[in-house]
Amino acid sequence: MEEKLIEVASAWEKAERALVFTGAGMSAESGVPTFRGAGGLWKRFDVEKAAYLKSFLDDPGPFWEMARELLLKKEVQPNEGHFALSRLEKGGYLQGIITQNIDGLHQKAGNRTVYELHGSLDKLDCLNCKKEYTWGQVAADVQKGEVKCKCGSRKVKPRIVFFGESLPGRVLEEASELAGKCDFLVVVGSSLEVYPAASIPQTAWQRGAKMVLINSEKTQLDGLFKWVFREAAGEVLPGLEEKILGGDQK
Ligand code: NAD
Ligand code: ZN
Repeated sequence: MEEKLIEVASAWEKAERALVFTGAGMSAESGVPTFRGAGGLWKRFDVEKAAYLKSFLDDPGPFWEMARELLLKKEVQPNEGHFALSRLEKGGYLQGIITQNIDGLHQKAGNRTVYELHGSLDKLDCLNCKKEYTWGQVAADVQKGEVKCKCGSRKVKPRIVFFGESLPGRVLEEASELAGKCDFLVVVGSSLEVYPAASIPQTAWQRGAKMVLINSEKTQLDGLFKWVFREAAGEVLPGLEEKILGGDQK
């Protein structure tokens, strides 16, 4: 792996507009389970019941059960991979992160420019009376398995994108525009199966960007990448960061 790390780090250093695109695998080492892949949530939860907007409106219970598994098992914290990306941004080697994750861990690690394609769990709205909640206000109720608004409605919806919902237009537009201009793209921990998010790496590839994939398992878009790491994000990213910023002061 050492030789590949040196080669990729050297290409990253030379890039003028480097972007990172992340998925659930980015947070796996923080203890957040992924959807697909080994140990993924889809093996334990019914996608139809837990992640579709229609099912959530009928009965939000299964979603909250999954959310509890996703984020509340323990207080999740950024891992070494997140911190490496944060230092790379501070060092001027990263234009931004486009993420499919809803866990907020990139921001928690200190990254400033983060495009959340699928929203985040940070804020919630009661669809009945429009009252706004923060994750902190509902966390205890999520733990108990039922979130209810003061007005009595159970339709307290987190600002995330459910299946059957469209992506926030402006964020997708901005992210696609950035991808269409980048000259270096690092994809981390995504099965690249969820669209339109997975069109971001295709846009960068069409534009002629140099492409790196860090993903433990094979994806259907592996062919787009010049370099593929099958190792964990929490090992590869600090390895690259060390080579890029090693000479710089931290
Ligand atoms: P995915 O679950 O479909 O794929 C994750 C990929 O990451 C798999 O291919 C797996 O092999 C790989 N992986 C697992 N651990 C890894 C590691 N340590 N290092 C490198 N690779 C690793 O995830 P996706 O492509 O992001 O799509 C799932 C959708 O579910 C997303 O749209 C996202 O919104 C949502 N989701 C979010 C979170 C989160 O916020 N952390 C968690 C689960 C799902
Ligand atoms: Zn309400």
